[in-house]
Amino acid sequence: MKKLIIACATLAICMSGCQTNPADKAESFNYTVEQFADLQILRYRVPGFEELTLRQKQLVYYLTEAALHGRDILFDQNGKYNLRIRRTLEAIYTAYKGDRTSADFKALELYLKRVWFSNGIHHHYGSEKFVPGFTADFFRQAVLSLDASLLPLAEGQSAEQLLDLLSPVMFDATVMPKRVNQAAGEDLVLTSACNYYDGVTQQEAEDYYNALKDPKDTEPVSYGLNSRLVKKNGKVEEAVWKIDGLYGSAITNIVYWLKKADDVTETPEQRAVINKLIDFYLTGNLKTFDEYAILWLKDLNSRIDFVNGFTESYGDPLGMKGSWESLVNFKDVEATRRTELISANAQWFEDHSPVETRFKKETVKGVSAKVITAAILAGDLYPSTAIGINLPNSNWIRAHYGSKSVTIGNITDAYNKAAHGNGFEQEFVYSQAERDLIDRYGDLTGELHTDLHECLGHGSGKLLPGVDPDALKAYGSTIEEARADLFGLYYVADPKLVELQLLESAEAYKAEYYTYLMNGLMTQLVRIAPGNNVEEAHMRNRQLIARWVFEKGAADRVVELVKKEGKTYVVVNDYARLRTLFGELLAEIQRIKSTGDYEAARDLVERYAVKVDAPLHAEVLERYEKLHLSPYKGFVNPKYEALTNSKGEITDVQVTYTEGYAEQMLRYSKDYSDLPSVNN
Ligand code: ZN
Repeated sequence: MKKLIIACATLAICMSGCQTNPADKAESFNYTVEQFADLQILRYRVPGFEELTLRQKQLVYYLTEAALHGRDILFDQNGKYNLRIRRTLEAIYTAYKGDRTSADFKALELYLKRVWFSNGIHHHYGSEKFVPGFTADFFRQAVLSLDASLLPLAEGQSAEQLLDLLSPVMFDATVMPKRVNQAAGEDLVLTSACNYYDGVTQQEAEDYYNALKDPKDTEPVSYGLNSRLVKKNGKVEEAVWKIDGLYGSAITNIVYWLKKADDVTETPEQRAVINKLIDFYLTGNLKTFDEYAILWLKDLNSRIDFVNGFTESYGDPLGMKGSWESLVNFKDVEATRRTELISANAQWFEDHSPVETRFKKETVKGVSAKVITAAILAGDLYPSTAIGINLPNSNWIRAHYGSKSVTIGNITDAYNKAAHGNGFEQEFVYSQAERDLIDRYGDLTGELHTDLHECLGHGSGKLLPGVDPDALKAYGSTIEEARADLFGLYYVADPKLVELQLLESAEAYKAEYYTYLMNGLMTQLVRIAPGNNVEEAHMRNRQLIARWVFEKGAADRVVELVKKEGKTYVVVNDYARLRTLFGELLAEIQRIKSTGDYEAARDLVERYAVKVDAPLHAEVLERYEKLHLSPYKGFVNPKYEALTNSKGEITDVQVTYTEGYAEQMLRYSKDYSDLPSVNN
């Protein structure tokens, strides 16, 4: 489960940039900040912040301070030279007196922006080291031109010595080439540049943790989560990240702000969560961390919520060490009402679905995932972020106590708004009529489809007695996603949604139908390299559904691919018939699932979901390329400012959205940089 990069139904929508939305007519908020390398920087709003009570605003403010103080931890976790490199680059960027318009200086600026984005010198997603576009000679000359007091020099170290240390790390492609190496057969610990292990081999690390684990322990702690494993004088031991241990100076500040937050909590449950987290930062005890995780997942009634700590382990080749991250948020009451309303009507939807009665659940309960508004992104969630989070990660805690699942509404909204007007719709949508529909209803019907998929689709239906839940084997996840998507597609067109006042128009669903087919038949192919097939389960599911209805409705021209000026477009001629076809496929897919019909699953998936139409694929890639859209996106945070009276008490907290990307990064490096440059 772990972190949802994006809730499953919306994955391709956002990642492929094909989400389409209502024009933002009433407001002039600028969601885009800048674009460089393969990155686009966006901005998000925090709607509803002004309506929070003063106490709630204070709580958010204190938690955002606690969030920002962890930034250096992640830089150091991602590589032992990252803080020194960042600080050296920042010194040049802010104080260099030479030609700031030269190609070398511009390339250094670009490199620094990428280092900020990745929290280190390796790509945030691919984990390969960046190649600087400036020369090592330029770097040397620029560093030596600065006042030495601006440089991150160790005691007694000269600028030349610092350069000798950093230059190979930055410029030699063979030094620390990957942050996380996953190549089978190599020593993954020694060949990964991440800073979770020092002087130990993979074998030594595995031996160390295997010796700690007790196979009979049914409630094991997350071994290794909060420490670096080091070899000192021939002995392997953990350097624990805690207030009097490694990263102590950053943790001291995190704890300081958590204690402030503790004074303005909303509920006793929330207070218990914060106090347990403080306890964990003080002791580094992983049992305490589990107690904290349980308290956290049970706290569902506080409006304000947060993540703060050593959380995800993707950055460790052995998958144990938690990278530091934080997210502060509050519940989006209106959007959560929508998911609750859908869940409250779960039985009605189950009873009226086009599925055979024997495959339906007699009693069904919807899941209402909370929709939240992010107030700050930090650590491993900044600037690149998830749009949904499902925690904690501990398996036994998930099994015994469940987990908390949230989707981040304002981040999704910012992706959507920024995508509008980027040229994608203009390029791929057939005509103005479809664009108008999408502009009016695309945003809302897209969200409703996701809600129906997540809250009802996966939980609907049942297996016949004796059917093995894994009967569909490798085809299981594609079939399962198709089942949930079809449930959503069938019901997004149902008059029930208008009756529940979730939609204002009986025509609105057409926006979702059009974009779904355009994505499934064509535009999701932008994520696939030429010559490759469709592999990922969500993408297979979408192509399966789109190709199936395309073929079944072909005789009556329900959906067509038409050519206009040499370009291919999707045209939907009969939306009502399209809904009927979705219903028929839902009934068949549910039958396959309920009876464990492996052959039918295999035939459907292999026939419709896997193979790519090569000429169409090439055409889509070529058209997409011309739009120059960045494959990766990240965010600048809003800026919070506490207003105080003469007694120093906070009277209000103001949020502003004007800070630029470099401006914010430099401010964070100045105000929230607690760690020394070398952390041993
Ligand atoms: Zn799903």
